[in-house]
This record gives sequence, structure tokens and C-alpha cells, in this order.
Amino acid sequence: MKENIKCLIIGSGPAGYTAAIYAARANMNPVLYQGTQPGGQLTTTNDVENFPGYPEGITGPEMMIQLQQQAERFGTDIRDGWATKVDFTGPVHKVWINDTIELHCETVIIATGASARYLGLPSEQKYLRSGGGVSACAVCDGFFYRNQEVVIVGAGDSACEEAHYLSKLCRKVTMLVRRDEFRASNIMEARVRKTKNIEILFNTETEEVLGDGQLVTGVRIKNNITGKTTDIPATGFFVAIGHQPNTDIFKGHLQLNETGYIINTPGTAQTSVEGVFVCGDAADHVYRQAITAAGTGCMAALEAERYLSSVELSTVE
Ligand code: NDP
Repeated sequence: MKENIKCLIIGSGPAGYTAAIYAARANMNPVLYQGTQPGGQLTTTNDVENFPGYPEGITGPEMMIQLQQQAERFGTDIRDGWATKVDFTGPVHKVWINDTIELHCETVIIATGASARYLGLPSEQKYLRSGGGVSACAVCDGFFYRNQEVVIVGAGDSACEEAHYLSKLCRKVTMLVRRDEFRASNIMEARVRKTKNIEILFNTETEEVLGDGQLVTGVRIKNNITGKTTDIPATGFFVAIGHQPNTDIFKGHLQLNETGYIINTPGTAQTSVEGVFVCGDAADHVYRQAITAAGTGCMAALEAERYLSSVELSTVE
């Protein structure tokens, strides 16, 4: 089955839906495929309190439903399915959905996002799913743990940045580092080391996230040299062990950096292929916020619209 599409949007987080709102209002007849996790990462967040315009906050899933409805209101064609293959070598950009539908697209907006990495412990996943105190985003969720004790896992730049952010809100931050050294840059490590309410435990791993069935109450940690386990109190368990951009299908078709993030021309949504644009976390390992994803979604749609106009103009000339 083949279909011609003016503007294809892949992904249904804040970036994808914002691109859809702008593209639909510009008469680009966008078709949006939702991907494997409709609504994206925000569907695993409880309250979103930092997105401007919601003075009382809103839950992540509710916000995504509203964004979807706003995109539909202007005529976006929203569909189930995920992109499994691309070919950007010719003048039309080809994308396959579920290996069966072949789309011939004038423009493609990639909004496939990234996935936070988790430890994978059953107790971690349980309290992540229930919204009971496991998070992979200190900026999103730190506020809920004001004046409380929290634990953060990881030793890279993200973990240091997030630990420092949490230290300004929380009474105490315990940082679990699995080796006897940091991976982070010296400056980030130094900042964490000199923050009084951050305690760093080296050679320490997580055995289990402890809780009362509803909420996290502590963490069972293990020293991987001595084998000794200890329970420490905590109401929040933050995981900062890296993110994986959802960009596997673009390898070899677009320029990606060494971690897999799509490289865009700075200050634009333009990828290495004309007519193919990127927005949101698929290209952003620095900010990773719903609001920045939405902002770049808007940029991608505006640039796609300008690209289409310039192609039409050159055909007329
Ligand atoms: P990194 O891959 O740099 O670090 C991941 C950290 O998590 C490592 O310390 C790793 O430990 C640890 N880790 C991985 N798996 C486990 C596990 N199962 N249990 C315990 N610990 C684990 O990821 P980041 O997200 O920190 O950074 C990604 C990129 O983004 C980097 O290039 C970084 O420099 C950049 N960045 C830059 C920032 C800035 O400049 N402001 C801010 C944030 C990120 P180990 O060291 O033992 O492998």
C-alpha cells in the first residue's frame, strides 16, 4: 500500500503535536503517526507544573490528550503505527509504517523523542508506573520532594546536574555511584562534591526501592566491594543513568552524533537531508523539557512550510 503525503510527523509527544498544530493551521494536511508510546514520555509523568499556562498544573496524560485534541481540531490525521524504515535518498522521502504502508512524503518531521534509561528492578518499575516516587527527571519532579530526602543514581553530567538541582530543594540528596569515580566532567563533579547536602556513596548499587505499596519510603543499597547492604530513608528515587534517543531507523540516513541524537543545523530544525526536520528530544540531550520540545516542534513545522513554499516557487519558475 502506497500513499502520498505532504507533511508526515513521526511521534506524538509535545514536539510532534505542536508541529501538527502549526502544520495543520498552515494547510499542510499533516499525518501524524503516534509511535509505540502514544503521548510520549509525559504519559509516565504524574503532575506537570512547569508548563506555562497551567497555573494549577496538569497530569502528563491529560496534557497529552489535550494536545492531541488541539492537533485534531485543525485537521491533523492522527494514526496508530510506527515508522520501521526510511529512505531519504530520492527527491521524495520514503517512510514505511509497520513495514507495510509505504509513504511518499514531501516533508518529514521527526519527533520520535528519547527514552530515559532505568535500572530495570521490579520495585523501581512498580513505583515508576504508580507515580509513587520514581523519576528520571529532577527538573520535572524535584519540586514534589521539597525539604525531603531523596536518592539519585548515576555519575555522569546528567546525574551531577540533577543532584545539584535537587540539593536546592531537598533536605538531603544521596548519590549512588557504582564505581569509585565519576564519569562526569571535572567541573560538574567538583560542584557536587562541594555541595553540603549531597552525600556521595561510591561503589554503591541499588538492591531494591523500598515502599509501603503506594509510595517510596527508602532504598536498599549494596556496597559492591564489601557486599554489605543498608536501608536508607528516601521519599524520591531519581534515576539519571542516561537517555537513549529513539533514532535507530535513521542511522545511515541522517547525520547522528555518537550517542544517536539527530544533528540539526544549530538554531534550526533542519537535519542533514533537505525537507526532513527534527524536533524535541530526538535532537536535544541538553534541555529535554516538554516546553522546549513544543518550541522546536513549532520551528520544525514553520521550516517545513517554508521549504514547501520554496519548492513550489522553484517549480513555478
Ligand atoms: P552518561 O552516559 O554520561 O552517564 C551515565 C552514568 O550512569 C554513568 O556514570 C554510568 O556509570 C551510570 N550508570 C549507567 N548504568 C548504570 C546502572 N545500571 N547502575 C548505576 N549507574 C549506572 O549519561 P548522561 O545522561 O549523564 O550524559 C549524556 C551526555 O550528555 C554526555 O555526553 C554528557 O556530557 C552530556 N550532558 C551534558 C550536560 C551539560 O554539559 N550541562 C548535562 C547533561 C548531560 P559508569 O560511569 O560506571 O559507566
